[in-house]
Amino acid sequence: MKGFVKLPLVLLLSCSLIKSIETEKVLNVSNEILNVPNYEPKEIKVNEDSKTYLIFVGAPCCGKGTMSKLFVEKFNFVQLSTGNLFRDHISRGSDIGKEIESIIKSGGLVSDEIVSKMVNEWLISICLEDKSVILDGYPRTAIQAQSLYEYMKKSGNLNKTKVIHFEASEECLVNRACGRLVCKNGKCQQVYSVCGSQAPKVEMICDNCSGPLIKRVDDSVETVKKRLAEYSAQEEALLKSFCELGLNVIHLEASREAADVFEELNALVKPKVGSDKK
Ligand code: AMP
Repeated sequence: MKGFVKLPLVLLLSCSLIKSIETEKVLNVSNEILNVPNYEPKEIKVNEDSKTYLIFVGAPCCGKGTMSKLFVEKFNFVQLSTGNLFRDHISRGSDIGKEIESIIKSGGLVSDEIVSKMVNEWLISICLEDKSVILDGYPRTAIQAQSLYEYMKKSGNLNKTKVIHFEASEECLVNRACGRLVCKNGKCQQVYSVCGSQAPKVEMICDNCSGPLIKRVDDSVETVKKRLAEYSAQEEALLKSFCELGLNVIHLEASREAADVFEELNALVKPKVGSDKK
């Protein structure tokens, strides 16, 4: 694939040599973890086996970011959100930021070449960390899926890769987007809802970093509809390409409350607890 990063063989071999001890742990999932009132605490079994790569695919506002955040906090995953990365570039005024700003504002898709190059560089930069990985919002096209497949194959991580497809109705997605707030701080970008269990503790202030909360420029009804259309135009080919590449796709009903989706996701992927979260 033209223009993509050439992968240093030695580094990739070292990545694939990372091993961890196989044990089983019990994790207490309480409402403190989920920050959801009245959630009944329960224990779940988690496996401590080798590093996992989770690919979260789904339409805008389907909850990929919320689940990623929970996996980062609770299981010490490392998350790459391509959308967050792009917004950070825009807020820093970098060359990439200048190139993609108008595309993102209008709800279009950034070119496969820019996205895949950025993601491959990121994957290489974190490959020696003993942390499982979530790709949130990548791949979004069949071409990106092919590029990721090549990387996973070369780095020996194909059999550790799981694709989760978040499914939600259009009505639910548009409602979520209209009520979404996000921290303006490019390094934080914590997501909130105007009301309900995901509302900030102090109105329009981020719980995390005390930065101001804003509405994303691409969360207007009109732009969300365009983003949903962009997503739909790619979805069938994307899911088909996972199938053709031999990657199993797990479907998840994501219109439900975050706590319920989190519980099912745990049962489906059985995440390991990261090394510094024991
Ligand atoms: P998100 O935060 O995932 O909703 O992404 C926000 C915007 O970033 C999208 O509407 C696209 O313009 C761009 N974007 C994010 N990820 C990708 C990707 N994998 N391919 C192309 N464009 C992307």
